[in-house]
Parts: sequence; C-alpha cells; structure tokens
Amino acid sequence: MAENNLNARLRALPKIDEVLQHVTLPAQTLRSLPDEVVTHAAREEVEALRQRILADEELDADALLPEQVAQGAAVRVLAFAQTSLRPVVNATGVVIHTNIGRSPLAPQALEAVVDAARGYSTLEYSTDAMARGSRHDHCEALLCALTGAEAALAVNNNAAAVLMVLSEFAAGHEAVVSRGELVEIGGSFRIPDIMAASGARMVEVGTTNKTHPEDYERAIGPDTAMLLKVHTSNYQIVGFSESVPGVQLAKIAAAENARRERAGECARMLVYEDLGSGSLVPPLLARPDAEPTVRAALERACDLVSFSGDKLLGGPQAGIVVGRKDLIDRLKKNPLARALRLDKMTLAALEATLRLYLDGSAYRTVPTLRMLNEPVESIEQRAHALAKLIEQRVDAACAQCSVVKTTARAGGGSLPLEDLPSFAVKAALVRGSAAECEAFLVKDCAIPVIPRVQKDHLLFDVRTVQDGEGEVIASNLASYFESEADA
Ligand SMILES: *Cc1c(COP(=O)(O)O)cnc(C)c1O
Repeated sequence: MAENNLNARLRALPKIDEVLQHVTLPAQTLRSLPDEVVTHAAREEVEALRQRILADEELDADALLPEQVAQGAAVRVLAFAQTSLRPVVNATGVVIHTNIGRSPLAPQALEAVVDAARGYSTLEYSTDAMARGSRHDHCEALLCALTGAEAALAVNNNAAAVLMVLSEFAAGHEAVVSRGELVEIGGSFRIPDIMAASGARMVEVGTTNKTHPEDYERAIGPDTAMLLKVHTSNYQIVGFSESVPGVQLAKIAAAENARRERAGECARMLVYEDLGSGSLVPPLLARPDAEPTVRAALERACDLVSFSGDKLLGGPQAGIVVGRKDLIDRLKKNPLARALRLDKMTLAALEATLRLYLDGSAYRTVPTLRMLNEPVESIEQRAHALAKLIEQRVDAACAQCSVVKTTARAGGGSLPLEDLPSFAVKAALVRGSAAECEAFLVKDCAIPVIPRVQKDHLLFDVRTVQDGEGEVIASNLASYFESEADA
C-alpha cells in the first residue's frame, strides 16, 4: 500500500472526543461508571481499528464513523458487567481439563479457603512460639508423611518448581536429560526452554525412542550437576522404546559421586525427577500400576521429585518438591522460593486436600479421584437420570435423547493410555444444528456447558458432570430450542 494512502486511512480514524459524544450506555451503568473507564474503552476501540488499518485490512465503509466506534466502546464497557472467570459444566469426559481449571476442590478445601481468606490467619505466625512462623510449615509435615520424604516445599505450580530446582542446583552447570523426555506440556512449558531460563546447560543423551544407561554414563563430566528425569506424562512412546528408570539413574549417580569423593572433588551429582501429575495414592483403583506414586519415585532413590497440586492430587494449583532435607533447605533460601511462594488461600486448600489423604477417604472426597474411580454402573445410572431430566425439558421433536457408552480420559497429561469407560447422554438434534447448539450452550448461557460434539449430535459425558449440574444442562438445552423457535 502506498504510504500516502496509509496515512490518509489513519487520519480518517475518529478523535476520542468525537467517539465519547456518541457513547450511549444504560443510565444505571453510566451513573456508577468513572469517566476514565469509558474513555479507556473508546481509546481501545480506536486503537483496535488503527491496528486493522496497519494490517491493511478492508474495513466497512461506516466502520470509522464516530457513532459506529462508540457502539464498539459501549460493548467493551458493558462487558465489565459480566464476570469473566465463572463456573462452567464439564461434560467433556476429560477429568483434569486444563482449560477449564483442572481439579475442582473438595468441600473441605473450599471451607479452608474461605476461613483463611475471610480474616487473619496463622499464615506466618506460630501460636506455639507466639512469634513469627513460616508459611512452609503448614503442609510440610503432611507431605512428608504422605510421600515418605525427609522434607517438602510447595510453590506456585510445577513449572515453577522445575525452574527453581534447576536454577538452585544446575545453573551454570550441566544437567543431563534423555532426548525421549524433552517434552512440551502445553501452554509454552517445554523442558529445553525452562532449562535455558534456569541457566542450566542441557546435555541431551540417547534418541527419541531409546536411551540406555551407558548414554548417561558417557555424558557425565566434571561439571555435571544433575541427572534430570521427566515423566513423559502426556504421551508415551510405545513399541521399540526404552528409557532408563530412576533407580538405575540413582545407581549411576552413586557411582559417580563415589568416584568424586575418592578424587577429593566436593561437587555432588543429584537425581531429580519431574513427575508431572504426581499422585499420592494409585490414581486408578482398578489399575494400581498405571502411574507411579510420589512415594515410589522417592523410593527409587531420587534425591528430589516434583509434581503438580492440581492434577491427580486433586488440590489447588501448586508445585510440590519433596526429597532430601539438605536440598529442600537450600531451596527454601533461594530467592525464587520467595518469588514463587503460595498465597494463603492456596495453602489452605492444599493443606485441607492433603488431610483427606490421611484417613483413606480421598477416593470419596477428592473430586478428581472420585471422578476417575466412579464405577461405570453408577455413571450409567446417572446418565439415565440426566436423560430423563433433559426429556422433561426438551421435546422429542427438538432432540432425541439416548444413553450411550463412551470413553472418558484422565487428561491434564495424566494416564495418557488409560481409557476410562463411561456413559454419556447423546442428544441427536431434530431441530437446529449440533454446531449451533454447542455455540449456544457455551456462549449464550449464564453457566456455559461444554459438551462433546459429533456431526449431528451432542454428547454429555456424565463421568465429569457433578451433582446438580444436570439441571443446568437440561435448562441450557431447553433455552437453545426456545431461542431457535424464536429465530
Ligand atoms: C503438567 C506438568 C508440568 C507443569 O506443571 P504445572 O503445575 O502445570 O506448572 C511439568 N512437568 C510435567 C512432566 C507435567 O506433566
């Protein structure tokens, strides 16, 4: 585009004052709203148009009229009236669904959050000593008891835990990792990137499908500070593949450390495993070996293990590091531990969730574990109840309901190969379309419902639908067919 032409198009953008003269909002909104908020919305609207012009986009003839731009600004202002972060119903059958908040909390954890947040708390105050305490104390003993570790530390999330461990123990040194474990977890968490951010020098060994003990042994040099093992939790290489188990890595590290001691060298090498999901108990009662527990990883003689709080553990977002006390003590003093520390609400939720593992009630009380382990017969019953509920609200001339077998997933990069047998209510649309109906359920309802969509029907997988949520599904569906009748 000629530069003159571009300048002319940019000059045609309305002035903010002109836009503001045309902004009309409901009186109630206007009365309570600071002027600056409306001005800000007008600026953003004009800026969005400027970007579209710079990108050489074709605009409608009246897109730059102040009246038109003012309408866009009003929409931005009115959007503030709706809460952005709100509950949704998960009818996808994916239990640990990262986009919609991973693990719902147990009622005990919710109560603890409210209690900690409502007033003051013992966050960093020891009632025993009647003096300053440490926020690390609330969960450490519980974590040790539940994993067999000497010490534990919880931070903001597992990505933060990995960053902190690498930066404390491997920054400026070499960390050896298998090429088969250089995973991307999603949301821009890639092992090579996080290693680079920590200042550790990554030494890759083996191949994508096979890594042998000798590969590690050959890679170890005088500056090797760590053998890193990453649980490839969201995929698995099946077939001609081999990785080196933690127990073997521990043996390799022990041999190297003995050699260093004999040679009078003072640096020691660590074995650290990023377990990803990390569960305190076997997550699937029916398949106890499906996923190693944190305790098992530590028993394999890893020095440190880290895992998420909101995956299989079923607690709040957190990253938990457990292992040797001397190492955890060093982590506690790392400035990153302060920058990445947990707030009181998360700590309260984590402590309350951990307590549920003490008395063996976790499979009933922790929602994530309960959903993963609900017997398929019970899911089938709930699916029939949901179908009935929908049939009461939605005419068979609009949608035909039936109960069908499905396969649910653990999700959240956990148990990638485990099919969880499940049941769903299938709504075959007689009127409207499945795609339109899905859009309505997600975009146009106060509580969005997220189904699975297949061609001409919707599936509401009941494994992830919680108590009381069936009503929401039925009423959202009924609203769709009402709106469809009006259209
Ligand atoms: C999920 C995962 C992470 C990131 O954990 P967050 O708690 O989401 O930060 C890191 N490593 C592995 C192996 C994972 O599965």
